[in-house]
Amino acid sequence: MNWTALAINLVFAGPVAYWTYSDAKGRDANPILWAATALLVGLFFLGPLGPIGAAIVLIIYLLVRPKGAMRICPYCKKKALDWLAFCPHCKGALKRDCYRCFAAVDAENEFCPNCHTKLS
Ligand SMILES: [Zn+2]
Ligand SMILES: [Zn+2]
Repeated sequence: MNWTALAINLVFAGPVAYWTYSDAKGRDANPILWAATALLVGLFFLGPLGPIGAAIVLIIYLLVRPKGAMRICPYCKKKALDWLAFCPHCKGALKRDCYRCFAAVDAENEFCPNCHTKLS
C-alpha cells in the first residue's frame, strides 16, 4: 500500500464526498450512497485514476441528481430542494395543500399563489 498516493487521493476524494453528501442530503437523494461511492472510487483507484474516478462520480451525480432550485428550510435553516414536501434534514413540512384549490403551497406563505385564498 502506497500511503502517499492514498493521502493524495484523499485530498481529492474527501471534498468531493463531503460536497456530494451535503448536496444529496438537501435533495433527499441517497447522500450516504453517493458519498461512499465517491470515497471508494477516489481512494482505491490507483494513482492519478483516483481523482479522475472521483470527478467522474461527481459528474454522474450532477447528471442524475434531482433537479431544481434550493431553498432555505424555515425550521432548520439548511438547504432543501424547492419542491420537496418535507425538509430532508429536520422532516419539517415545507408544503401544505391549499384547502380550496389543492395546490401545494410553501408552508410559510400566508396566501395561496394559485387562488389567493388566505391560508392561516
Ligand atoms: Zn429543515
Ligand atoms: Zn388555492
